[in-house]
Amino acid sequence: MIDKQKNKSPYGLDGEVALITGASRGIGRSICITLASQGAVVIGSSTSKKGSESISNYLKELGLKGRGVELELNDHENIERLFKDIINNEGYPTIVVNNAGITRDGLLMRMKPDEWNDVISTNLTSIYWISKASIRGMLKEKKGRIINISSVVGVTGNPGQTNYSAAKAGIIGFTKSLSRELASRNITVNCVAPGYIKTDMTEMISESIREDIISNIPLLRLGNPEDVASAVLFLSSDAASYITGETLNINGGLAMI
Ligand code: NAP
Repeated sequence: MIDKQKNKSPYGLDGEVALITGASRGIGRSICITLASQGAVVIGSSTSKKGSESISNYLKELGLKGRGVELELNDHENIERLFKDIINNEGYPTIVVNNAGITRDGLLMRMKPDEWNDVISTNLTSIYWISKASIRGMLKEKKGRIINISSVVGVTGNPGQTNYSAAKAGIIGFTKSLSRELASRNITVNCVAPGYIKTDMTEMISESIREDIISNIPLLRLGNPEDVASAVLFLSSDAASYITGETLNINGGLAMI
């Protein structure tokens, strides 16, 4: 007789509820599909109704469990409401992926206060609100995974991205501190730091700069959203149960940090 327990995939997520912010496109969409494909019930967010409907639609078309929801990360009361809604409908999220993010690039000398504040608020402060809202349920479930999407530039820096790099570096420090607070409760907190990934965010890079970037990547290509999603799956799964406070770099060798 086959020993089902012995043959269980270490990456299986049956019975888990996963919240992924910014799941309408790019990396978040791929994370949503990857976690749902392993059995998790996924809740993916977008700031618009159209975006949330598109998340529900792609999950339905692929026969996966989950739905899209509307969430503006800068509206903190909305975050409280969303958690109440998920807890009532799907149960406590045991996997939370803080993925949503924006860029407002420009040299610091010309950077407007709004460009600084929007990036810090959307990319960093939102992680404070979402993580805080997640912890109570994870404590009740006696397990949890928080995965924060940082960036290679949070460690290396990048001209024109003081706001973005500061937020992404802040995420790494936040992750290390929170991982120490929660480790004894079987909740791990880790970061994934992508390099250059083919999404709307990198679409605006000109062809000549893109070629220059690729020539500096040892694997000689931009990453795909799936390259990041598989790292998130690993950190969400039992296979990574002894990893916390860590940053997994997914950058094709661009920076070996
Ligand atoms: P993307 O294609 O631009 O998608 C961004 C997602 O974030 C969208 O789903 C968007 O929702 C959501 N979002 C934006 N502002 C929001 C807000 N105020 N509240 C709630 N949701 C909001 O981005 P991506 O390239 O996939 O990047 C995903 C994450 O990876 C980001 O944290 C980014 O910084 C990080 N990253 C990306 C790269 C890269 O090369 N692409 C490299 C390193 C790190 P809507 O549907 O409403 O637009």
